[in-house]
Amino acid sequence: MPDAENAARHGVAIKTIRRWRREYQRHGRPRGQTHLAPPCPRCEGAALDDRAYAELLGWYLGDGHISRGRRGVFNLHIFNDVRYPADNAHLQVLMGTVKPGGRPHTRLSPGCVITTISWKHWPCLFPQHGPGRKHERPMVLEPWQVRAVEAHPAAFLRGLFHSDGSRVRNWARREVAGELKRYDYPRWQFKNVSADIRELCCWALDLAEVPWRQSNQQTISVSTRAAVARLDTLIGLKC
Ligand SMILES: [Zn+2]
Repeated sequence: MPDAENAARHGVAIKTIRRWRREYQRHGRPRGQTHLAPPCPRCEGAALDDRAYAELLGWYLGDGHISRGRRGVFNLHIFNDVRYPADNAHLQVLMGTVKPGGRPHTRLSPGCVITTISWKHWPCLFPQHGPGRKHERPMVLEPWQVRAVEAHPAAFLRGLFHSDGSRVRNWARREVAGELKRYDYPRWQFKNVSADIRELCCWALDLAEVPWRQSNQQTISVSTRAAVARLDTLIGLKC
């Protein structure tokens, strides 16, 4: 159909028709139209993969950040150490599961990989989003988030510990039958400046029946041999 006729039929200017065609060729859709985005599990009744969500929530609380993009779109960024390529690849899969068909992109900043995915609905899925830093505002889960974590505490812990946690090796010498022996004591530590986020971590450890203790003001430790082994099995090593 000639552009002039098309414009008349839709009641728009000819140059608008031309712009739509250019944008369609460039982006696969007119810009600003997000009809190809998947429906939202919160405000549009779509299904949510609770396990993937629980883990992504852990990552978000650990080292995530939501920024406002253009045209009502929000960007979810997760920052993670560049030394863990498998975790960074896994993050992309996780994001593409929570936002079905979503294609995250990554960029490098010194020592760090930033994985980003945009969607209008990130604030629906992470209602903890707000101005300021996470430790300066309350981090309280909504009832539907609580249910997702209760169903998948290990996934949530994986997100938390693989972002803000570390598995450290301590060692000590002990005298056994007159001989000094060296013992290794691996342990997991979760460090976060937000008391609310630390509390969520402790709550999930309780749900997963992993004993923990507060080892200093900002650090939760999992340090008994059995507890470390259990947590290793539940969340895997950072990789
Ligand atoms: Zn929504």
